Amino acid sequence: MRDVLGAVEWQITESGFDAEQANTNEALFTVGNGRLGTRGSLEEGHVGEVSGTFLSGVYDGYQVPVIDLVNAPDWLSLGVVVNGVRLDVQSCTVVEHERALDFRHGVLWRRTVFADPEGRRTQLESLRFASFADRRLCAMRVEVTPLDHDAEVTVESALDGRRRNQERLPVYPAGTTFAPEVRWDKWAVAKHLVEVTKSEQQDAIYLEMRTIETGINLGYAAVLQSSPQPDRRTVQRSYERIEEHQHFTVGNGQTVRLDKLVSIATSRDPVDVVQTACLDNLKTHASAGFDASLQRSREVWEQTWADCEVAIEGDPEGTRAVRFGLYQLLIAANGDDPTVNIGAKSLTGEGYKGHVFWDTEVLMLPFFIYTQPDTARSLLRYRYHTLPAARELARESELRGARYPWESADTGREECPIWTVDGANRIWPREEEIHVSADVAYGILTYVEATGDTDFLTEFGAEILFETSRFWVDRATYEPDTDRYSIKQVMGPDEFHSHVDNNAFTNRMAQWALAQSAHVYADLAQSAPDALAAIVAKIGLDPDEVEQWRNVAAKIVYHLDPAQGVLEQFDGYFDRLDVPVTEWDQNDMPRYPEGYHHHNCEETQLLKQPDVVMLMHVLPDEFSEEVKKTNFEYYEARTLHKSSLSPAIHAIMGIEVGDSTRALQYFYRSALVDLANNQGNTAEGVHIASAGGTWQILVCGFGGFRVRHQQMTFNPWLPDEWQEIRFRLRWRGNSVQVAIGHAEATFTLDAPDGVTEQIVVGAEKVTLLANTPATVRLSEVGPTSQMLAEASVTAN
Ligand code: BGC
Repeated sequence: MRDVLGAVEWQITESGFDAEQANTNEALFTVGNGRLGTRGSLEEGHVGEVSGTFLSGVYDGYQVPVIDLVNAPDWLSLGVVVNGVRLDVQSCTVVEHERALDFRHGVLWRRTVFADPEGRRTQLESLRFASFADRRLCAMRVEVTPLDHDAEVTVESALDGRRRNQERLPVYPAGTTFAPEVRWDKWAVAKHLVEVTKSEQQDAIYLEMRTIETGINLGYAAVLQSSPQPDRRTVQRSYERIEEHQHFTVGNGQTVRLDKLVSIATSRDPVDVVQTACLDNLKTHASAGFDASLQRSREVWEQTWADCEVAIEGDPEGTRAVRFGLYQLLIAANGDDPTVNIGAKSLTGEGYKGHVFWDTEVLMLPFFIYTQPDTARSLLRYRYHTLPAARELARESELRGARYPWESADTGREECPIWTVDGANRIWPREEEIHVSADVAYGILTYVEATGDTDFLTEFGAEILFETSRFWVDRATYEPDTDRYSIKQVMGPDEFHSHVDNNAFTNRMAQWALAQSAHVYADLAQSAPDALAAIVAKIGLDPDEVEQWRNVAAKIVYHLDPAQGVLEQFDGYFDRLDVPVTEWDQNDMPRYPEGYHHHNCEETQLLKQPDVVMLMHVLPDEFSEEVKKTNFEYYEARTLHKSSLSPAIHAIMGIEVGDSTRALQYFYRSALVDLANNQGNTAEGVHIASAGGTWQILVCGFGGFRVRHQQMTFNPWLPDEWQEIRFRLRWRGNSVQVAIGHAEATFTLDAPDGVTEQIVVGAEKVTLLANTPATVRLSEVGPTSQMLAEASVTAN
């Protein structure tokens, strides 16, 4: 079975069963397709497992403080009983166990040899995937082989709706640890599903559950195709669960093969009757069979990788880690559903309850924009889908326009909790992390610039820009004494500091968004007057408001300290205690200084994650090289990187300002966040924003890629340890293959013959001709700063 897997450099593996590591690996070994993700639990389960299938957009808030991404019915469950003994890690001894996730094709393989209490050995082998060709289909193949005995084998294939979400751990004395077998039993759980129906349909079983509060019907149909045919087949029904059992008599060394194909339909889909849609779809796949379904899925995977493959020559482990992150991004997003987005743990676990943050626009979207633009469009359409709720949210504070929530789920209501999960600390992002509205604007404008998709603007984007601009105008406070606008009582990206005024990131992003919205308005007035008129009429926009956007943008406060050249993170930041970082952990990452922790850094200048440096990353051309360098140095010394979003930004900005000392270290920290579990909580789900950040380190950091003046520009720098990096970028309908070495960089425009594209490498303009590699000697191109200076002279 293993031979269907691709090359080993496209795999992560597990060897031996380790209960301590099992929950982390369940997250890492997730298979998915953007519509759903299924954690990499063992088919038969184990005591202490944290299994789960999550369907994008299926949330429920029944009797819980914060809405959950529902731990949906389980399609995976498949038990094997051999001579009356269940093959699992509790009932048997594990003699051999290995698994491999082939992330080039989205397939998880597993082989385990169990010995029963009498020493009889049986091998269990399996393959599983969530189809990339038809997102409604999940499938697994299981082979059972008694190795040294004849056997009575029963295979129990279930659809299980008796699922619970984990809510919280009651308070135990600090430092308490639990054995892996019992630790989840301590948690409070939430029920979100009730049964609608279950039935046996010819050779399939069917289960339909409904979410209690949101009322979404979830239909699962499964067929079990076996070879040889079973001696007997029975169906068992129990509470919220249905199982098909097949019984075999198997000779020593013989193999029973079972293919379980599962179709999932929901009332979120455009279907009339969930059950009919589900069973019809299953029928199609059942007649094609497992191999054909797998083949189709593999083909779509191959096509998808062709647009986004990356490589680091000289660093196979780094390459594997980046690709693994891209796999996670690819299984997180569903480009066919504009009503869903990517939660902070994607579909790999219950962490952050499946909520969507600014992580999408700032960390992940660049990957999609430059490799899968249709998916990027769909992710941005989610913000349009949730615009009505963003309007409501603004209204709650008696402001006009639209304000996006800090945490978003199905409708776009604010879902951010008010207290930490243990109830011990009040948290403020819900009220104060308002920068997300400007981050959404940033995502939209970056997408439109890279794709040239102006239809997106007229259909969706402009309305978002205009409504969020209205919000900014109302949210800003006019200061008559200084004739400036302040934005008060906010929290910037650095979550150590709440209730601050004039956070540099928030103010500058708001300013930028306001100015850009005014540009878009003026552009559309020329290029698409009818479309603009329709938007203006729809939202009742007065042209004077646009003047107000310009006016507020021109007068928003921000402080660049003239003596030091440092942008003050917020009013009074420089007066806070300057506590030095003196200790670093085993990964060489800063430790909290003695006596400090997440909830008492307010009084200090310590940062959880980049704030001013993040601003300079997203708006690199708004600041001089000198200002960027000074600010990087100042804040680098004070940033603790307590968010997984953090190291990537410092890697990129370090390279950009010529301080690459820690670039590689930050790269590995970001790339290995889950593979090395270096935040210690991968079991709750992967850190998907970090995967987007890692791609940005490679492309924007080492590759030095930035879009400037409507062009792709590159200012590469490679560490000595690496010989070459390769990646591919989509740009306005075509794509460019990039290979960067120490001495040379080669760019190949993949486009119809005759097409040309101008790019800039360092300070040199290079014209690419379709399908003709252009090689540039990096020592001869001059610094980007020269290009920027020249461009600004031309622009003036
Ligand atoms: C970070 C936020 C991030 C959130 C979800 C927090 O720890 O501070 O910036 O949006 O995690 O990933």
